[in-house]
Formats: sequence, structure tokens, C-alpha cells
Amino acid sequence: MHDADYRIDIDGVSVSPHHFIGGERVASPNTFETRCPMDWERKLADIARGDAALAERAVTAAVEGFALWSAMSVAERCAIMYRLADLIDAHAADIATVECLDMAMLKESLEARLVPRGALNFRNYADIVSEHVERDWASKGTHNRVIRDPAGPAVIITPWNAPFMLSTWKLAPALAAGNSIILKPAEWSPLSASLLADLAGEAGFPPGAFNVVQGHGSEVGAALVADPRVRRISFTGSPETARLIGVAAARNLVPFTAELGGKGPLIVFADADLDAAAKKAAAQFEDSGQVCLAGTRLLIEESIRDEFMTRFRDHTDRHVAGDSRDPATTLSAAIHPLHLERVEGFVERARNNGDRIVFGGERIEHGKLWYAPTLIEPKSNDSEIVQKEVFGPVLTLQTFAGEDQAIELANSTEYGLSGIIYTSSAGRAERVGRAVRAGTVWVNTFLVRDLTAPFGGYGISGIGREGGDYALDFHADLKTLQILENSVS
Ligand code: NAD
Repeated sequence: MHDADYRIDIDGVSVSPHHFIGGERVASPNTFETRCPMDWERKLADIARGDAALAERAVTAAVEGFALWSAMSVAERCAIMYRLADLIDAHAADIATVECLDMAMLKESLEARLVPRGALNFRNYADIVSEHVERDWASKGTHNRVIRDPAGPAVIITPWNAPFMLSTWKLAPALAAGNSIILKPAEWSPLSASLLADLAGEAGFPPGAFNVVQGHGSEVGAALVADPRVRRISFTGSPETARLIGVAAARNLVPFTAELGGKGPLIVFADADLDAAAKKAAAQFEDSGQVCLAGTRLLIEESIRDEFMTRFRDHTDRHVAGDSRDPATTLSAAIHPLHLERVEGFVERARNNGDRIVFGGERIEHGKLWYAPTLIEPKSNDSEIVQKEVFGPVLTLQTFAGEDQAIELANSTEYGLSGIIYTSSAGRAERVGRAVRAGTVWVNTFLVRDLTAPFGGYGISGIGREGGDYALDFHADLKTLQILENSVS
């Protein structure tokens, strides 16, 4: 076991493999490996593997950190959050280098888009709480005011895809609300969270306000969410894990939000800009399809099927599989051999079910983790490949005869995270946009998100909403203070 000061050099970036608890690096007797998806032979690090005792220690630190952080003024807290945002921007290249190696996300997009977005999340929430005015009104002879009280330590549990940016959109509102946090990143991509812990230490969070705990979900993750001192749980991951966390949250009567999987429809009407739609459909293969919001079910109006397919095929063929550090690469490797085996299992079962593999359906190179962009025409809407999230570069193709059928197909899974519609008709955009049952519906665009908008899922895609004031309300205990008029002076 290395001591807590030990650090690893990863392509010129110094990374701690340890936890960050109470403002200090903390080692664990056991470790787990993280490897590079682009070269599975390459072990990046042995990471501290937290257990129940470590979780107990982290929650104790977060309770102490909460007392310090929540006692600070909003202006003091925001100054630290702005500093953290500046530090993220200053270290964007290092974070992108490490995250690219750890999960094979495209480096260029990490550096230009996702890491800066992480900084923006902290800035944005510091702005929102600085400008927040408490709701204040008179009624029934009293003065009423709504006060947001920080709730207590919050546990933030994140998945392995886009871990840096994704964690910041959950951490920023929790911290802005005055809660201390314990971040537990996924065991398949733990490194960027460790860099974030370094930056949080440098930004000046009081000890215990910002903690990062590494380890397996079933070990340290389960122990964290079971601790009754934790007052909020914010989770992103799979519906299966959300059910387990929900049970733990219910035992302690702790509010939790869950942002879960998706099986979004991408609906293309005959009146759409077909080339734009086909290009966006082909873009769903990026990041190896490991995007919860992806439009993975192509629903195409019958009359334009052939023309759409020609253009879609053309855009798909332009993809370049390769090393995610290379700016020419658009198709990245899958995160982990086990995950790719899971993707292969879906395609194999589709084949056996009689669904038609239109193209793809195999690895690009034997023994490597790149999977070919795959399109499947299902035998029926009930096929598993239509109904279950694959989380790989696998899309399905179905056609529809009119608006009603498009909506029926769009709403025919248990999920409801996102939807994408291509049409040039304002009326249709409004009608279909309202009818699609999903937390976010985009028309003629994708992934553009205003940070003040609510974010979450219908059905098994989630519970609760994050984003803007919705996340701040979740992280607070809301109080109504009511004072009889003319009774105080
Ligand atoms: P997962 O549910 O397996 O794991 C997510 C996190 O939960 C990990 O950190 C894991 O260690 C932890 N965990 C596992 N068991 C736990 C337990 N018993 N108690 C506490 N924590 C536990 O999900 P994953 O495979 O890492 O991520 C992929 C899933 O995440 C996909 O379904 C994807 O759609 C979803 N996702 C959703 C969004 C969204 O915003 N809706 C964003 C990204 C990913």
C-alpha cells in the first residue's frame, strides 16, 4: 500500500489514486485497477478501494464540513465556487488528457466543450444563488417568506460516462445550496474526480465540505447511501442501481434524485431538413453510443425512408474509428471489455430473434474495444433491441405513417429521458414536442441545454429534476416563515 501522498504520472499529469476526505488524501488497504480502453494492456492506476469503514469516515468528515460550509455567507461560498471554476478552466488540458485515457472520450470535445462546461456549472450556480431573492409576500394578515435551508451532507454518485462534466452538474447545486458533498465516481473511470478534488482543495473549500471517495458501488457506495447522517442523495446511473439506492434512501427517509438510462426516439418527418436529420442521426454513434440522451430509435416517415437512408449511410461512413487523442477520430472505443460484451450480447440476441442487422454488428478489429456503427431493423416493436437501453453504437430503424403513429412509437418504451424531432413545421414541433413523454425534447437540434432548465426523466429514466432552481430546491430544506402583520417592529 502506498502512503497517502503517493501520486501517479499519467501522460505528464500528476494524479492521486487516493480518496480526498476532510481536506486530506486518505489511502485504503485495498485497491482496484483502472485501464485504458484504447489500449487495454495499459494499466493507468491502482485506485484506493473504499469500504464501509471508509464511508463512515467520509460521512463524519462531511458532517464536520457541513457545519463549516453552511455557516459561511453566500458571498464567501460563491467566491470559492468561482475560484474552482477558474481552476478547472486553467487545468482543462490536464483533465481532458486524463479523462480521455480513462474512458476514451474524444479529447478535443472534452477540452473544448465538456471540461469548460464543468467550470460553467460552478459559475452558473454561484450566479444563481448570489442573485437569489427569497420569495416574500403578504397573505391572510401575515408576511410570508420562503427560506432555503441547507439540508446537510449530500452523497453524489455518478456513472462512468462523461464523469467529469456529469459530476459537476450534480456537485455545483449541492454546494451552492450550502451542503457538503461526498462524490463517489464510478469504478471504471475514477481519475478525473481525483483531479477535481485537488482543485477543490486549492480553491479553499473548508475541510470536509468537498470529499471524494473511490471504490465499488456495492461496497463503499452502498455504505454511503445507507448512512442516516446523509441528508440528500443525487444519483446518475442505471435503473437497477437506482432501485437499490431508493431502498436505502427510503429506510432513512432521505430525498433522492435519480437520472437514469434512456432509449430516446429520433423522429424524422418528411418535411424536415433531411440532411441535417441524417447527420444528427449518424452523430448518435459518437462516444461509442455511451450517451444516456442519445436518440437510439430512428423513427422515419415512410415516404422518405430511402432518401434518409442514403444520406444517413453517407454520414455514418464518414466516421473515423481511432485513438480518442487524435482530432480526426470520431468513433471512440467502448469503456471496458465487459461493457462491450454486454453490447455484443444485445446484438446477438437481436440476430437470434430475427431482427435484421442492416449494417455493423461486429467489432471493428478482433480483440480491440471499437464496435462498428450498427443499425438494426427490428422484427417488431417488442424486440429487446427496441425496448432496452444498449448504451453502445447501436441504433434501430422503424418507419411510421403519420404523426399519430410516430408519437405512439416514440412513447412505447418504459424510458422517457429524451426525444429528438426533425420537422420544418412549427405546429408539428409544438404538437409532437408536447406529446412525446420525455424530460427533454429537442426539435431540429440535440444536446444544447440551458443550465436553468429542469433535467430528468419520465418513467424508468428517473425520479426528480436537476438543473436551475429545481436542483437548489432539492438540496434545501424549504421553510415558510410566517409573521403576523404589525406584531413585530
Ligand atoms: P451503474 O448504475 O452501474 O453505476 C452508477 C454508479 O452507481 C457507479 O458509481 C457505481 O459504483 C454506483 N453503484 C453501483 N451499485 C451501487 C449501490 N448498491 N449503492 C450505491 N452506489 C452504487 O451505472 P453505469 O453503468 O456506471 O452507468 C451507465 C448508466 O448510467 C446507463 O444506464 C446510462 O444511461 C446512465 N446515465 C444516465 C444519465 C442521465 O443523466 N440520465 C447520464 C449518464 C449515464
